[in-house]
Amino acid sequence: MGMKRIDTVADLVRHGLNAQIECLRCRRVVLVPASKLRDQCFAKSIPMKLDMVAQHLRCSCGYRGAKIDATGVIVDHEP
Ligand SMILES: [Zn+2]
Repeated sequence: MGMKRIDTVADLVRHGLNAQIECLRCRRVVLVPASKLRDQCFAKSIPMKLDMVAQHLRCSCGYRGAKIDATGVIVDHEP
């Protein structure tokens, strides 16, 4: 299936993928365009490494900590 090695947000952007972020507590899953995640990293000075980003993300349930997977579903840029 040609799984790519994805370690950083920059890798997601480069491959045209998006981040599927799953909360480790409530299991809520959200799809975030990689470019948007990258902007958040810049804004909050978070390292682009996906492991690091995952620890900084806060779910709407208030839990901090998530699992990030790459997804090939292309999300169009929001207007
Ligand atoms: Zn949650």
